[in-house]
Amino acid sequence: MVSPTKGIEDLTLEEEMSRRSRRVARGGQPPPDTGESSSSAAAASSASILASSGIQYTVADTTGRTRQRAESGFQNVAVQLNHCAPVSEAGETYYAFEFTDQFTIRFGGAGSSYATPSCTCGANEGGVACKHLFWFIDQLQQARQRRAGIVPVSEDASTVGDSASYDLVHQLGLLSVADRLPHSEQYQATAAADLNTVVELRKQVPIVFRAFDVWVLYDSQTSEYALDVDECAERLEELIMEIREACSDQERLQWDVTTQAVAALMEILTGLLRRNNDQHSIAHTAWGMVPSPSSGREGNLYTHIMWHDPQAESASVFAVLNEIGHDVLFEYSDQLKELIQRAEAARVSEGHRAEMVRLRERLEAQEARATRKRRGAEREERGGSSRGRARR
Ligand SMILES: [Zn+2]
Repeated sequence: MVSPTKGIEDLTLEEEMSRRSRRVARGGQPPPDTGESSSSAAAASSASILASSGIQYTVADTTGRTRQRAESGFQNVAVQLNHCAPVSEAGETYYAFEFTDQFTIRFGGAGSSYATPSCTCGANEGGVACKHLFWFIDQLQQARQRRAGIVPVSEDASTVGDSASYDLVHQLGLLSVADRLPHSEQYQATAAADLNTVVELRKQVPIVFRAFDVWVLYDSQTSEYALDVDECAERLEELIMEIREACSDQERLQWDVTTQAVAALMEILTGLLRRNNDQHSIAHTAWGMVPSPSSGREGNLYTHIMWHDPQAESASVFAVLNEIGHDVLFEYSDQLKELIQRAEAARVSEGHRAEMVRLRERLEAQEARATRKRRGAEREERGGSSRGRARR
């Protein structure tokens, strides 16, 4: 007697074979938006999984277990983001997303121990993604705004379409990825508190410089908020340390907090570079300030800070950028390199220089990595399908 499901099994097998042969012919490239024959498109659509987002996926499926997980992951999974962070430690760079229910998802770049994405829920083992990873992949693909066609996803969730999942997080930006996800109250509370702190610190930067400019032009008698060179330098060094403190919890650090901190530090540097002249002599002309004979270059706010190595209770603005920057730095790469160049031309002390060189090297290394990756992707695009056949 023929099993009533016999026909269905045959159909599934046939679809699977047709799907695989097409995948091989494409050499792992994503399916084109148009151009597939209607019969293979029909076969693909029944073998593919329609996510609740409306996007269709195919998942390399050897056991059926993968497909089951993908099917549940591509539906709405009720989770909430507690916090997320770009992590750089022991030469490793990865993104971590911690959700309520105590599981954490990690995506690392090539060579990282999280190059195969990991989820701590327990189901993600043996190179097969859990439903959380499939759910996450669907969120990434939605953020990408490319909905046409059927999107291939690897069994371990390391690739979606033509991209590595890690690269996608990087390209989209951690903050914009995090913004799309449902958030826990804790996320909102801590993110808001951290952001408020650093936004308030950033607001202080122009206020401090203005107080200094008031002193230069009108002296301390005019305004109780006026700050002379020493007072202004001290306040700026405090601000740098307060920004560093606000960003010290790397686990909790949010993308937008880091962005505000980097912007504030760049504004401090810009303000200093703009005041690289002898303000004592301007004050002398403006209101008859009598510079002390020993003041010399100490009448210049820039040199006052940047020609001296930071003392025990202070840190170089470059050092703090190196500590907190992560990927946010690379979004400001051009501006930062210009500031470094200007600071170099205006001279900096050895301590500042060491951190400045380190920052520049990080920016250049990241650019080189991005260029290599882009060229690799272009090569892949040009030679992908012929190489796919050659491997076979
Ligand atoms: Zn999981």
